[in-house]
Amino acid sequence: MNKKIAILGCGTAGIHLAYELLSKPYFEVTIFTKETAEEIRSGRVRSTQVHFSPALTREERYHMPNWQEAKKLHTVHISVGGKTLFSGHLDNHAQSVDQRLYFSECMNDLEQKGVHFVYQKVTADQLTQLAESYDLIVDCTGRSGPVAPFQLNRGFEQPKSPLRKCSAGYFHGVRHAEPAGIIAHIIPGEGELFEIPAYTEHGQTTVLFVEAIPGGKLDVFNRVRHAIDFKTAMIDLTESFFPEIRERMDLEVLDLCDEQAFIRTAIRPKVHLPYCTVNGKTVIGCGDSVILNDPITGQGDNTASFVTEQLFLSLIEDLDSGWNEATAEKYWERIKPYVTHVIGWSNAMMKPLPDHVLGMIMQGAEDSAVAAHIAKWFEHPTTAYNDFFEKNGVLSQ
Ligand SMILES: Cc1cc2nc3c(=O)[nH]c(=O)nc-3n(C[C@H](O)[C@H](O)[C@H](O)COP(=O)(O)OP(=O)(O)OC[C@H]3O[C@@H](n4cnc5c(N)ncnc54)[C@H](O)[C@@H]3O)c2cc1C
Repeated sequence: MNKKIAILGCGTAGIHLAYELLSKPYFEVTIFTKETAEEIRSGRVRSTQVHFSPALTREERYHMPNWQEAKKLHTVHISVGGKTLFSGHLDNHAQSVDQRLYFSECMNDLEQKGVHFVYQKVTADQLTQLAESYDLIVDCTGRSGPVAPFQLNRGFEQPKSPLRKCSAGYFHGVRHAEPAGIIAHIIPGEGELFEIPAYTEHGQTTVLFVEAIPGGKLDVFNRVRHAIDFKTAMIDLTESFFPEIRERMDLEVLDLCDEQAFIRTAIRPKVHLPYCTVNGKTVIGCGDSVILNDPITGQGDNTASFVTEQLFLSLIEDLDSGWNEATAEKYWERIKPYVTHVIGWSNAMMKPLPDHVLGMIMQGAEDSAVAAHIAKWFEHPTTAYNDFFEKNGVLSQ
């Protein structure tokens, strides 16, 4: 008999999980989500969404839409205090496709492939009712979630307030540095600016994504409400702190790719124990609803993709024995090391970098093998975690 699964939320986690479940004939999937594909497509940008190669490989494995038109990003460039140190090669290319386009295309495709959609905002009260109708509920409600009463997991560092203010805009009129890649411009003591080629409905753009230390010199977008003000603030900021980017801007052409192509937010990282029981049924969490991270390391989508596949594999393994707390625990044991690495590394990136890490970054300027190793931090966050903590013995969990 088919197993009925309700997914709450249709962002990266909900979409990846739905495609994974579709790869087997015995799942009946319903997605409850508060926005239609069209509302998402015509709405505000949500992310900068670099998908590194493990996530791209999963997209291929589960026959998700592919984006041939999007620029392939082969490198990570690091610049500190205005000085370009190196450009490290990724193992395989990464890609950024505007979530407005990616989500809306995937939702239409999933609907055609038989996934049932219910457009509503699910509340905690409704969970009890849903638990009666479905074999499993998966909470993928993102950073506005969770809806389910998951416990906060105090074994993870939970900063009391956001460590960065995030402001990102998708621009036409900024020439990419070559070879195409992600550029991390670091201003010690102030924050970072990430430059990311991203594909949108309006073609290829350059995302300028500022991660400002609150109250610092890069924290300049507080009063910005409209696209025009965002553009002006970004021009002023690049003039003062990132002259190398300013030189690649063509002011005649420079503009956000549409009025909604900027975002301002701040995220307080937190981790929940990703399972609980509601009305006798197991509810599981995937993505930001349970593993919320500052985007400084570009890992939220990549983590959502990783954990949904681990959930999918756990569900398959326990298909005959039924899904209960043991299945949920198995899922958590599978993802815990990865989550520990992503959260530990991301939080560490927002503090002054340890001397041995700074030393490694300086070495990257001299040695292309070290530069490539550092680029792989983003592809394989466990490598980063080991470099930050294990080798130095600063922290081991
Ligand atoms: C500025 C910025 C830059 C980022 N850059 C990157 C990057 O480069 N790489 C990367 O990997 N990650 C990045 N991230 C993080 C990434 O975007 C998120 O981690 C990812 O989208 C999380 O996926 P999700 O499915 O958990 O949540 P979301 O994608 O937020 O989706 C949540 C879904 O749940 C729905 N929903 C919410 N509440 C309810 C409810 N009560 N009922 C029904 N539906 C509901 C929403 O409408 C939405 O469809 C960035 C984030 C930000 C803010």
